[in-house]
Amino acid sequence: MAFPFTPPQQISLAIYGGPAIRYPVNNIYCVARNYADHAIEMGHDPEREAPFFFMKPANALSGPGDNFIYPDFSEDVHHEVEMVVGLQSGGRNLSEEEALACIYGYGVGLDMTARDRQAELKKAGRPWELAKGFSGAAVCSAISPLELCDSNPDATDISLSINGELRQQGNTAQMIWKTAELISTLSRYFPLEAGDLIYTGTPAGVGPVKPGDHLVCTLEGIAAIELDVV
Ligand code: MN
Repeated sequence: MAFPFTPPQQISLAIYGGPAIRYPVNNIYCVARNYADHAIEMGHDPEREAPFFFMKPANALSGPGDNFIYPDFSEDVHHEVEMVVGLQSGGRNLSEEEALACIYGYGVGLDMTARDRQAELKKAGRPWELAKGFSGAAVCSAISPLELCDSNPDATDISLSINGELRQQGNTAQMIWKTAELISTLSRYFPLEAGDLIYTGTPAGVGPVKPGDHLVCTLEGIAAIELDVV
């Protein structure tokens, strides 16, 4: 195939147990307010409002070994630690059973959020991209293929520590929409594809980061990532 210019390089993540191969990243989907305790801390009633989706551009991805570069347009960037699902196949209008067959593996990441900008956008009724899709805003660990996951991804502890202090702790069993339901629901709106990442929402305890912080994210038995804020 010929192109009028060189296409951008494929964005990818490391794979646990596979040093010679990498996980090719396609689209990045995210779900908001998928843990009741986080919806409540943000001032919403999870009994009345269902979770919902948004996206990040794939080139917002930041992988193992990358620092988080604090953006100059925000003074209140928050961490949101989340389980990340990586697909190996996709489709449209998938049943929950078909959705599960699309999963390649799992990682742990951060939906970094410029909370001050997001508050302005929410107030104005505008999309969230400027607050959620900036460069480096999609932090993700190496992807653990299903066969290397030592815990059940639907019921494992997820946590974030900053400078050795525990800030967020939850369990993926607390997710309002479970992984299969997330994939199935997304596939009604988007043609899901191999390489798509899905950020599954954050438990309570979100808060600000600052330059100099050292962040450690853990999805027990499955994946971990650490990074510095610079
Ligand atoms: Mn989030």
